[in-house]
Amino acid sequence: MAKIQDILGGAVAVAKGMGITFREMLQPTITEDYPDGPALMQERYRGGHELQRDENGMEKCVACFLCAAACPSDCIYIEAAENTDQVRISGGERYAEVYNIDYTRCIFCGYCVEACPTDAITHGHSFENASYNTATLVMRKENMLVQIPAGVKPPVIQAPAAASHGH
Ligand code: SF4
Ligand code: SF4
Repeated sequence: MAKIQDILGGAVAVAKGMGITFREMLQPTITEDYPDGPALMQERYRGGHELQRDENGMEKCVACFLCAAACPSDCIYIEAAENTDQVRISGGERYAEVYNIDYTRCIFCGYCVEACPTDAITHGHSFENASYNTATLVMRKENMLVQIPAGVKPPVIQAPAAASHGH
């Protein structure tokens, strides 16, 4: 008796499974044509990092090191510098003179993004990061910093070396 029930149960399961298969066969295909066509990313996809600017074009990063402290891979390296009257890079007291993320170690967990109090570090959608040379996998501030928005003129942005010391 138990055997007949097993056989019937199995037949029902097979019929159910095949029903799903046949139903899906009639749906339109959603295979993406990458790399011949663009890859479609979900909104929350955690791709390459971006360092953001505020509405005045200033860098949002204030070099607080919270992202580096939160990083489980210990792959964020920051050197902080003070903003002055002559050189103002961020809206806070300090800015990141150097900001590197080592992509040979980053696991794209997003903890740095969550830890950032100023929303300075975010995940973009870039993903084609493979390289035969690991030296190219250290992302520097210059690689990650977003452009100043068109039409926005930051108050004072000078390269630190070019700063004058008088008022
Ligand atoms: S995504 Fe994760 S591993 Fe990568 S830098 Fe941020 S905290 Fe570190
Ligand atoms: S990216 Fe954010 S958390 Fe990291 S140092 Fe800059 S302000 Fe702090």
